[in-house]
Amino acid sequence: MTFPVMIVGGGISGLTVAHAMQSAGIEFVLVEGRDRLGGRILSAGIDGLPSEDGFDLGPSWIWPEMQPVLYSLADRLGIRLFPQNDEGDIVLERSASIAPQRFPTFQRAPRSMRIKGGTAAITAALKSRIAAEHVRLGMRVTRLARLDGSVSATLEGPAGTAETMEAAIVVLAMPPRLIDRSIKFEPPVDPALARRWRSTPTWMAPHAKFFAIYDEAFWRRDGLSGAAQSMIGPLGEIHDATTSSGKAALFGFVGVNAAQRRRMGPEPIIQASIEQLTRLFGNKAAAPMATLYRDWAADALTATEDDLIATDHPLPDPRPWVSGDWSPVLMLAGSETSMTSPGYLEGGAEAALRVAAEIELIWQSLARQSAPASDL
Ligand SMILES: Cc1cc2nc3c(=O)[nH]c(=O)nc-3n(C[C@H](O)[C@H](O)[C@H](O)COP(=O)(O)OP(=O)(O)OC[C@H]3O[C@@H](n4cnc5c(N)ncnc54)[C@H](O)[C@@H]3O)c2cc1C
Repeated sequence: MTFPVMIVGGGISGLTVAHAMQSAGIEFVLVEGRDRLGGRILSAGIDGLPSEDGFDLGPSWIWPEMQPVLYSLADRLGIRLFPQNDEGDIVLERSASIAPQRFPTFQRAPRSMRIKGGTAAITAALKSRIAAEHVRLGMRVTRLARLDGSVSATLEGPAGTAETMEAAIVVLAMPPRLIDRSIKFEPPVDPALARRWRSTPTWMAPHAKFFAIYDEAFWRRDGLSGAAQSMIGPLGEIHDATTSSGKAALFGFVGVNAAQRRRMGPEPIIQASIEQLTRLFGNKAAAPMATLYRDWAADALTATEDDLIATDHPLPDPRPWVSGDWSPVLMLAGSETSMTSPGYLEGGAEAALRVAAEIELIWQSLARQSAPASDL
């Protein structure tokens, strides 16, 4: 069977394309390398497993005023928001020789908003609107071959099983750099294009997040917002990560770079992070109920070796993401290919809806060509 559309990647971009295909009545299959949907979106429970009321190990903030496409999508999906807690003082840790200092929090504008139930509520809402038989989990695309009028994809399953599928259009809803490193193209894509994919940073792929979960948000009672900035580390920027349902936590972006994290392993970083939270928030921080640690640079379905070094944010780039033999049977829809907000959730939604609109136009045109003259 040849699918009209194959979507590779089940993050926000791939799921948004899938939802649009379903709404437009265009047949599709979505293949996802992991055994879960969401990609960089991952909301986990205290046990570290995906949860419907979880801590956001990937993205946690949206800014509705600046992100109209995402906000409108979230609104249509019935997603509810709540503000990032910033009530109370912020703690600054400037050097090892000066005790941490507290200062009144300045109100950020626009305000960072979080999603009730965790960011994975977006994934869950999209998933619930897509028929389950269209989704194949645990299947990684490793090769795409251009045939006459279609594309053949080789997929590898978890036990090393391989199968092929054919599609008229393949949408790669994943970071361009990862495409370049993990998928073989026959014929090869233009070398200049491959270089561009490789040099496009995958936003936040070099980073790691640490969470300390507590039985109560004790810092709030002490007049602290849970926000802190540190020049010492290992956590550089810390925030209140308490869920909308009241599960208390602090989280921080790990300030140790990815190559060093790989050499150290997680344990010393986790230990030093708890000690740091204790310096910043007092003795109650020394005994979390649990900790969560997620190193995205160590995740082969997000990051490549190029992501061991943090680089600048990807910038919008109006040039086409596909050229030559591969256009228009191949389309790129990952967040990094957005024309407006590359790297962000907004970018994922924007790129996906742009690609979905292109596919719908192609389909309408094919339908007109194949319609009997009396229908025209
Ligand atoms: C720690 C962290 C914090 C962040 N914070 C924010 C934030 O606060 N706000 C914000 O707007 N953005 C944030 N981001 C960025 C945001 O997560 C991304 O922009 C968005 O999730 C990207 O979605 P995507 O669908 O384009 O790609 P991804 O989510 O990366 O999805 C790609 C999918 O493709 C799959 N895949 C990869 N290779 C293959 C293959 N060969 N075959 C099959 N499947 C494959 C992957 O498993 C994955 O599911 C953050 C990211 C991280 C990691």
